[in-house]
Amino acid sequence: MGPIRTLYHTTRLRRGAVPIGDILHGLQRSQWLHPAELEAVHEKRLRDLLRFASRRIPFYRRRFQECGLDPAHDRLPHALVSVPPLTRDDLRSSACELVDIEAAPEDRIEERTGGSTGEPTRFVLDRADVAASRAEMLRHFEWVGIAPGVRHAFLWGADRDSWPYRGLRGALKQRLENFLWINSFDLDEDALADVVERLRSFRPRVLVGYASSLVHLARHCLRVGTWIPSVAAIESSAETLTPADREIVHRAFAAEVFDRYGSREVGNVAHECSEHDGLHVSTERLHVEIVDDAGLPVAPGETGRVLVTTLLRRTMPLIRYEIGDLAVARSAGDECPCGRGLPRIGPIRGRTSDVIRGPSGRLLHGEFFTHLFYDIPGVRRFQVVQEDARRLVVSVVSDAEAPAGVGALLRRRILQEGDPLFDVEVRAVDSIVPGPTGKFRFTFSRLSPTSVALDEPAANSEECGARSA
Ligand SMILES: [Zn+2]
Repeated sequence: MGPIRTLYHTTRLRRGAVPIGDILHGLQRSQWLHPAELEAVHEKRLRDLLRFASRRIPFYRRRFQECGLDPAHDRLPHALVSVPPLTRDDLRSSACELVDIEAAPEDRIEERTGGSTGEPTRFVLDRADVAASRAEMLRHFEWVGIAPGVRHAFLWGADRDSWPYRGLRGALKQRLENFLWINSFDLDEDALADVVERLRSFRPRVLVGYASSLVHLARHCLRVGTWIPSVAAIESSAETLTPADREIVHRAFAAEVFDRYGSREVGNVAHECSEHDGLHVSTERLHVEIVDDAGLPVAPGETGRVLVTTLLRRTMPLIRYEIGDLAVARSAGDECPCGRGLPRIGPIRGRTSDVIRGPSGRLLHGEFFTHLFYDIPGVRRFQVVQEDARRLVVSVVSDAEAPAGVGALLRRRILQEGDPLFDVEVRAVDSIVPGPTGKFRFTFSRLSPTSVALDEPAANSEECGARSA
């Protein structure tokens, strides 16, 4: 099987108008460039994009004129902060004006995402950019230890991603690429036992999965006293990996845990290296900013909104796109001991809509709630939903090990450590289903996204910082 796999891998990387192998080769080299060299490439790509957008995309032409941005002469990237962030509302109200009508139809890939509001938003991706994002993922797979032929397994939830791996053709693909695909949708107790058996017999070296699925599997392994000895590394993606989650996954598998951050709209954004100190931004393809509510950069160490600019996409470029996530900013000159020149951000703090504002104004991050559940045995899954300004509904899936009075305990902790003005209801439920995209969100607020002023002591430095230490 070895030579066939190698041939398959090489052919796969050479296929297409923009062969992924060529891009990957470039990325393998560029990651080691000095930060100053990378910045020069980055700045040129940003300027090219802004010039293109002002010529070809009516929305940006108008926007740049309104804010006085001169793409040809202004100092970049600094001048970009004058451009207002691009919101989902902009995408919905000005969809046609954001697309390059001269783009060749064969370059376009239509994509729709639901987002936290469930209201679909249309994106037009282009093939070259998608290929570059795919190559970035392969580069990260290398950091994690997935070289061609290395056994790996996916614990993945999104149905839309699973179709290439179904049926006979899918089985052949899994065999040739030497991976096992496991649909992580609705992993109940019987399914978990079966998943462990399949993984133990497949013996993957790397396990890639949604953060919540990995945690769910890890908890099961710890509970029943089993593990998957072959796993040396784990890549968590698609959802926020909290420090508590990381510890559970690390404890269950005794493996190195890497975080990858990306989204449907912009592809792979940032990846963790073996230093596990922040995530390296895919700076060859994206310009990433961490900003406050006014769209200005936050200071290093502070949490802010993530804005992403797609440097290579031409069909429908996103410029300062408000992706809806929060991350910690790092200083620009901060070099990683791994030697890569790619700038870093992070950790990623989750969705802006994961943040819950208590009735007395206190901001509670998703991590506040994971910590509440951390030391309670028998809790398998939970979800905290803020229904209105006061009302908090906590759904808990627990097993026989859960102590009596879990509900009262949680309620007391939320009132004491969170906000005494909450009206808390704890519900014992049999299961909690992931959202339509397959992503599991353990906290969310039905109120409009909260301001990012998260670094007030109540929400961040005390709660998240001190507890995760
Ligand atoms: Zn590094």
